[in-house]
Order: sequence, then structure tokens, then C-alpha cells
Amino acid sequence: MRSLDDYRTIVGDHVLYNVYHKAQRLYGKHILHLNSTYQGGGVAEILATLVPLMNDIGIDTGWRILHGNPDFFTITKKFHNALQGQSLNLTKIKKALYTATNENFSVYTHIDHDCVIIHDPQPLPLIKYHKKRQPWVWRCHIDLSNPSSEIWEFLKGFILRYDMVIISNEKYRSEQLPVEQRIIPPAIDPLSPKNMVLSEKDIDKYMQKFGIPRDKPIITQVSRFDKWKDPLGVLEVYKRVKKQVDCRLVLCGSMATDDPEGLLIYEKVLQKANDLVDSKDVILTTVENNILVNVLQRASSVIIQKSTREGFGLTVTEALWKSKPVVASNVGGIPLQIEDGKSGYLLEPRDIGGFADKILYLLDNPEHSKKIGDRGREMVRKNFLITRQVCNYVELLNDIL
Ligand code: UDP
Repeated sequence: MRSLDDYRTIVGDHVLYNVYHKAQRLYGKHILHLNSTYQGGGVAEILATLVPLMNDIGIDTGWRILHGNPDFFTITKKFHNALQGQSLNLTKIKKALYTATNENFSVYTHIDHDCVIIHDPQPLPLIKYHKKRQPWVWRCHIDLSNPSSEIWEFLKGFILRYDMVIISNEKYRSEQLPVEQRIIPPAIDPLSPKNMVLSEKDIDKYMQKFGIPRDKPIITQVSRFDKWKDPLGVLEVYKRVKKQVDCRLVLCGSMATDDPEGLLIYEKVLQKANDLVDSKDVILTTVENNILVNVLQRASSVIIQKSTREGFGLTVTEALWKSKPVVASNVGGIPLQIEDGKSGYLLEPRDIGGFADKILYLLDNPEHSKKIGDRGREMVRKNFLITRQVCNYVELLNDIL
């Protein structure tokens, strides 16, 4: 089990002292994080590291998973999509299944913690079905810049019961919401299997093991098969790049248990990939494996993130940490991480030609690519490592308890 001390050589003494010092008033406090999946997607990724580190500094922190059936997750994925701006037919049945699942779960999970932190919309209504004896915080990881008003009004009924809301970006702040809104950008764990240093020999070994040849430059997008990640758009970009440079495209997307749309989108992408002239150079993988993500990002010449909405975009952070040049959409949390032209490139999501041009430029100019990648890594070191996030949570708990 990792401890905060393991990060000392990366972030320095002051960061650690600051966290230890601020945690003093919270010793023995009992904190609960609750979300809807143990694996897949950014939330599970963050909690897997955050929870052990909070325990390490003396704050008893647990993590529970909401129980839901496939119908529930189909509905909550629709809510997720509507919060990101898609239209939704918000029927009584959908509302009833959503709230009933939370009401049932409240019987299975007893909460006597000092503070409860609920992640994303799936377990949001739980607050209504528990006798509230402590502060409750709603941590929303979604891009809320343009939510459908109907779903927002419905969910607000629950949000108003919370003591605080955490969002990832100033752009997601709702002026009309009276609840205090605090901004905590997500962060990555530089020591996890997904981000740890690997030797060239290991990278070669694992690429072989996963069946991905390194004979041509590789362009990669790591993302769930989700329409907001625009994998079909990535294929369009690749088609243009491939006309000028012989390269491979890897789309790596494991399936999250709380995302029922994954398989459908995967099949659409597979079909479109098979229609390409050199379809063998497009590799789709749904393998859930942290080392695979690590080696893929390290073995790639360019990382693409062509999302049309993006709460934060941990995949961008992970790639920048590996000093990789990233060509990404100028949406959601991505511009917080990339300074256009300096530490990566930002484009409008529809600008297929622009994406292709930047990728071609980076493939042609490896020295400049390296400079851009190194600046990206420094940006992550300063702002988006897990130690900063631990500090943010400690500050929040000090304020709220
Ligand atoms: N991820 C993964 N394997 C995959 C695809 C994604 O481990 O095949 C991880 C990825 O490395 C990142 C997280 O899932 O840590 C995705 O977080 P992000 O914020 O980019 O997007 P989200 O899925 O939360 O919308």
C-alpha cells in the first residue's frame, strides 16, 4: 500500500509537510466516498489512489459502490449525456427507477461517518433516504458547461440538500445554484502501474505481449468507447494523416461497468475501421489493463484526445506526464492542462483537418515534439499530481467539519 512519503522525490518536502500539517485536526475522522463503479473511467481511477493516501495521513477513509442493475445504469448514462447537453425524454419511469435504486441501496449501506462524499449523478439521491447527521458533499466529475435544463432542474432537487458541491472547472459553476461550489481539478498518481516509469525493454516486451507492432509511428487515443470521446472522428483524422505518413492508430477503450453504451459504440467504430483501406493498421482494444495504457502512451509518437465534451480528461494528464505531445479538443478540462502551441495543441472538435495537420507536424518534427512533451510533463508535475488533490480534500474537510 502506497504512502505519501513515496511521492517525496517527485513533489518535494514542502508539499508533504503541508498535507501532514493540515491533516492534524482530522485524525480519526471517518470519511466515506461513494460512487457507482470500482473500475473503468476517471472516478474509479482517482479513488483507487486517493483513499489509501487519506488513510495513510490519519484520516479513516472508506469507499463504497452503489448497487444498480443494467436498467439503472442505462438511465444514469442518459442523465450523464443530458448533463453534457444531449436531449433526454425524462419520463416518470426513469425518475422512479433512479430514485428507487438509491432508496433500496440506503437499506444496504449504513452511514454513520463524519462526512460523506458522493461522486457523480448515480448515487446523488441517496442523501434523501438517509437520516443526515453529517455534511454531505456532491463531487461532480462531468462537463456541466451546457446541461439540459430539464435534467438539471430534476437533479437540483437533490443537489440542494448537499452542503457543498465540487466541480472540476470554473466553467462548470452554476450561478443560480445556492450551494457552495468548490473547484478541485482531478489528478493522477505518478507511481501507479498506469503512470510509473518503464524501461524501453519493458515497453517493447509489453507491446509484443499485447500484439501491437512498433514498426510504424503510433497515434493513440485512450478512452472509453463513448460518443463524447468521438472515436469516429479520430478515424477521420487518421484517414487524413495516413495519406501522408505510414502510421498506425490504436484506440484503447476498456468497458466501464456503469457505461452500458460502450459495446454499441465499439461495434460502430469497428465497422468503420474495417472499411478503411489499410484497416489492419487500426488496432482497437477493449482490454482493461493499466500497464497496457502506460506502455501504449509511452510507445506512441502522438496522443490524440478528440472529445466533444470532457469533464477533465485524465487520459490527457496521463499522456502529458509521459512527456508525450498531445493534440486535443479545446473542451472541458483539457485547456486547463494544455497551453496551445507550448505544451500541446488545442483544436475545435470539428476541425478534422486541423487535427491531422498538427499530428503530421509532430510526426515530422520529433525534436519539437519532445520539447512540447517535456513542457506538458512539467505542467502536470506542478498542478495535477495526486498529492495536490490530497491537499485539496484535507482543506475541504477542515473547512466543512
Ligand atoms: N482508461 C483505462 N483503460 C482504457 C480507457 C480508459 O484505464 O482502456 C482510464 C484512463 O487511463 C483514465 C480513465 O480511464 O485514467 C478515464 O478518465 P477520463 O477523465 O479521461 O475520462 P472518463 O472516462 O472519466 O470520462
